[in-house]
Amino acid sequence: MEVRLPGRVELFFPTDGGLPLLSCPRCKRDLDEEAVVKHLEPHNPFEPAPVATCAACGESRAIEDWTTDGSAFGNLAFVFWNWSSPLRASFLAEMEEWCGRPVSVVHEHI
Ligand SMILES: [Zn+2]
Repeated sequence: MEVRLPGRVELFFPTDGGLPLLSCPRCKRDLDEEAVVKHLEPHNPFEPAPVATCAACGESRAIEDWTTDGSAFGNLAFVFWNWSSPLRASFLAEMEEWCGRPVSVVHEHI
């Protein structure tokens, strides 16, 4: 097992499927790839998260508040290498209790 503690919020996503998809929580329009790449660059963790504006509805929100599909924003990750079985719900509930925050599962294949 590997523990990733990047010291800032980052987007964890499967590495076998290209760029992650982020969509507008209001109108569901996908953020274009250029904007995704721009907003995934490291930023100062002591400053507010970068803001992206939806090309369809015009709403602006922090990049971390966009809807993710198969990925998750976070500042802590537990990586289970060569783990093919699904994690038990009771284990995930225990992790959420231990972390004090919701836990997301991101499947990554190399
Ligand atoms: Zn929108």
